[in-house]
Amino acid sequence: SLSDRLTATFKNLRGKGKLTEADIDGTAREIRRALLDADVAVPVVREFIARIKARALGAEVAQALNPGQQVVKIVNEELVGILGGQTRQLEFAKQPPTIIMLAGLQGAGKTTLAGKLALHLKNQGHTPVLVACDLQRPNAVKQLQVGGQRAGVPVFAPHPGVSSESEAATGDPVAVAEQGVAHAKDSLHDVVIIDTAGRLGVDEELMRQAANIKSAVNAHETLFVIDAMIGQDAVNTAQAFNEGVDFSGVVLTKLDGDARGGAALSVASVTGKPVMYASTGEGLKDFEVFHPDRMARRILDMGDILSLIEQAEASWDKDEAAKMAQKFADQEDFTLEDFRAQMQQIKKMGSMKKLLGMMPGAAGMRQQLEQFDDSQLDRVEAIINSMTPHERNAPKIINGSRRARIARGSGVHVSEVNQLLERFGQAAKMMKKMASGGGMPDMPGMPG
Ligand code: GDP
Ligand code: MG
Repeated sequence: SLSDRLTATFKNLRGKGKLTEADIDGTAREIRRALLDADVAVPVVREFIARIKARALGAEVAQALNPGQQVVKIVNEELVGILGGQTRQLEFAKQPPTIIMLAGLQGAGKTTLAGKLALHLKNQGHTPVLVACDLQRPNAVKQLQVGGQRAGVPVFAPHPGVSSESEAATGDPVAVAEQGVAHAKDSLHDVVIIDTAGRLGVDEELMRQAANIKSAVNAHETLFVIDAMIGQDAVNTAQAFNEGVDFSGVVLTKLDGDARGGAALSVASVTGKPVMYASTGEGLKDFEVFHPDRMARRILDMGDILSLIEQAEASWDKDEAAKMAQKFADQEDFTLEDFRAQMQQIKKMGSMKKLLGMMPGAAGMRQQLEQFDDSQLDRVEAIINSMTPHERNAPKIINGSRRARIARGSGVHVSEVNQLLERFGQAAKMMKKMASGGGMPDMPGMPG
């Protein structure tokens, strides 16, 4: 499958010391396929690939410790960037109520979303009211009332209905919206969610109506609701709504279908507006805050590789590494304090075995490191913790009685203390040799 191919491509890149243009072309080809497969619009794909290639050929990759990883990272960064970077939160008005309007084609999922969003906000302690401004479809008001009832949120509607809070003039959606907002102010609702009508295709009348509602009530947020399955049409629809109503955020619906979420990338890319929520089913609870990073993974289907890279990056303390490097450069003695600090770095990185595969230069130590497990690290750390600072900095003074005390303090047998000191002595010797030879020891956590 495509995702397998992509994963294979990234795997090939992972171990590479140097990337050729052919490598980059090959990767670009796979990424292009992945994006098209996820139904990202063709022009968006083209622009995206051009950016990736430009960055992949640049200095940040050439100078990277592991160029293949760097390319993977760039792809992810660009995807996340286009999708809006951080999750964009709703902006609440300083003076309530906050007015949120939903816009989009018919069948996009606006009315369904209205109930979900209302429940989501209610769960956060807000007191939303829904306003039914789709007066085009006979059943639309009723549908919103049912949703509101399920969510336990009142609905302001032009027709009397099951749970309608009040009545309004029929026929004119702009008037209903205005009355709904006035009602919300009177009844101290702090959020108003306005459901609007859609058409099967973009048309001027629809756009004008949406724009009129938006300006009449001065909506704080206008959410463009779009079906993730819409595919290549996403670009045109999004552009039309962006020009017609200038929305502030996007909601992607029907992500429970087989869509890989390419519409998110298309819409965000051509409009520059962030995706804020996702709808993942017909039920009230099928609703998620949208996370650009997760969607990037879903689109490229390469979550594992990325999380490994991030894990290593996040946990590796650059200051600590620099300090250590300086020590060796100065030919200072390697102490048990250093030893412990290194071990803590290793522990922070999580599973040693998982990390090994992605670490350049670690191959030489593979065998030794595979014997390492976390509990072993913990024991060694406990032993070092039981030493005095003086002992850690001048291990030579650790005689028999000190060893016995350390063993008692850390709950191990004296032989383990002996073993540790032995191993440490060898490591220190090796470090010293390498430092005087000018090279850095090639071990995990030491930039090579
Ligand atoms: P509107 O015309 O924009 O108001 O769209 P509706 O809210 O009426 O939804 C149209 C249809 O899509 C309905 O049958 C919904 O049940 C369904 N629907 C809405 N959102 C989702 C979703 O996230 N997943 C799935 N599978 N169906 C959805
Ligand atoms: Mg509707």
